[in-house]
Amino acid sequence: MRIGIQISSQRVLAALAPLLTVCLMLSPAAQASAVAAGDSAQFAAAFGAKFMDRYWRLHPDDAIPAGYYQVAAIQQVPDEHARAELHRFLSDSLEHLERVRPDALDPATRADRAVLESQLRSEIWDLDEFRSWEWNPSLYNIAQPFDLLLHTEYAPLEQRLRAVLARLDRVPAYYAAAARSIHNPTLEHTALAIEQNGGALELLGPDLDKQIESSSLSAAEKTLMRRRIGAAQAAISAYIAWLKDQQQHLAAGSAHSFRIGREHYEQKFAFDIATGDSASELNQRALAEKERVLTRMDLLTEQLWPKYFPDTAPPAERLERIGTLIRALSMQHVSKAGYTGEVKQLVSDLTQWVQDHHLIAMDPDKPLKVRITPDYQQGATDASIDAPGPYNPGAPTFFNVAPLDSLSPEQAESYLQEYNRWVLPILAIHEAIPGHYVQLIYANKSPSLIKSVFANTATVEGWAVYGERMMMESGYGSDTAEQWLFYYKWNLREICNVLLDYGVHVQGMSEAEALQLLTHEAFQTDEEARGKWRRVQLTAVQLDAYYAGSSAILALRERLKREQAGQFTLEGFNERLLSFGSAPLSLISELVAAPAR
Ligand code: ZN
Repeated sequence: MRIGIQISSQRVLAALAPLLTVCLMLSPAAQASAVAAGDSAQFAAAFGAKFMDRYWRLHPDDAIPAGYYQVAAIQQVPDEHARAELHRFLSDSLEHLERVRPDALDPATRADRAVLESQLRSEIWDLDEFRSWEWNPSLYNIAQPFDLLLHTEYAPLEQRLRAVLARLDRVPAYYAAAARSIHNPTLEHTALAIEQNGGALELLGPDLDKQIESSSLSAAEKTLMRRRIGAAQAAISAYIAWLKDQQQHLAAGSAHSFRIGREHYEQKFAFDIATGDSASELNQRALAEKERVLTRMDLLTEQLWPKYFPDTAPPAERLERIGTLIRALSMQHVSKAGYTGEVKQLVSDLTQWVQDHHLIAMDPDKPLKVRITPDYQQGATDASIDAPGPYNPGAPTFFNVAPLDSLSPEQAESYLQEYNRWVLPILAIHEAIPGHYVQLIYANKSPSLIKSVFANTATVEGWAVYGERMMMESGYGSDTAEQWLFYYKWNLREICNVLLDYGVHVQGMSEAEALQLLTHEAFQTDEEARGKWRRVQLTAVQLDAYYAGSSAILALRERLKREQAGQFTLEGFNERLLSFGSAPLSLISELVAAPAR
């Protein structure tokens, strides 16, 4: 599982070759009686490993990133038949799940039930209502699973290549089905599909050939492999050519809009964010919060101005004042050569701080390893946490940091200014301690496959953002005005993510308005703002997770502080919150507030 500031891969509709269809679930009748008693153990049996195996066989491209390699050789063909089969599986499972009364289950199982129900409903909604399989051509791309099979050493090279060989056989059928599935796509996803499928072509290029040559596959296997690669390349090229043709046709003005609209937005928000609020409520809250944060930043600017500009009067306009100070302070940053060492030092300092201030107990047996992002994962310069998936909990967790050596001197300088002396610690807090890394360790402690696999992004991102706030409240960073100023700048980015996403998808915000919001009111660079504009055209609701999750956690904490008065401890609250893994916050709020049993 990789968590970082990046566009996560979109769910690709999965299909299953009919000959591989093996019903591993209990029959509907047997399953209903198994769970009618509402017993948690029986729930676990009905929706445990066998259920998940069946799920993965219908979603083989998602199984590989999760580390479930039993389905590595299955190449989906995303046609009508596959969608119908997936729909049947989802509807049947939902029907069985609905017979289980939540109040008959223990809290952890109740959380599992809620996560699974939301996942099943969301996938059915996508098939029937949202229909991304029809308008988003970038959903069809073989690159990610192929990339992972070729570059993750879960098995000897020959075994991995044989899985690739089996998949290759169905690649021409895959792309033919993709083209048949698409009707009136968006221009933006069409352009993305052309670009990303170009990447798929590269993946089947000379490097793969070298891997095949260096392996001990038989001569016959090598010949077959090369023949299938040729056919796959032709299929991908044909898909790209077909998309380019569509592009010409769409340019006439008939394309599906990338803006998903109010109704779909609220529905998707309810599935993906699940904090109990509506999207429009969150947007209202973000608007008010933006004003509060800017007011705070202005007070800090007033306080700091004479220290950095003793001979110059501050600009009269608020945003100009704050922006000028931010640009000046950003020049204070570590050197390119000292960057990785500084991140390592931060990880060690943050661990000590969290322990000394009793914020949350940390497991000393699960050290975090800081490393430069490996070659095959590069492409984005952002930091990320690379944690073992639920099927490989013993593997180490890595904190991948930006490969600054691959940047030009100007790009490296711009990156280091962005992640300056005060922002780099916030990045380490968010990604590592007490952010994503600590949350994942707690999530892996609750031995629930369902919650690990279908992690709620508002819970995951919300915790990391809440962690930044908690560290600042504990006095981290010597409680200086500079540290608070940059904390608020970072915070403003999360708030503006909501205003941007809702603005663009629901309120028709234009590109110029979006760029104005990000660069002028949130002090982002042109490059960062352009990246966000691109992301908001290609995803919806994803950008809400940070602020939606953190504001829900903070609201819950403040409510419990009042209700529990003298009984409340911060460490106790944090540990109880994380004990429910990455379940939706609407449910965690209920469970955390209830007395432990
Ligand atoms: Zn994050």
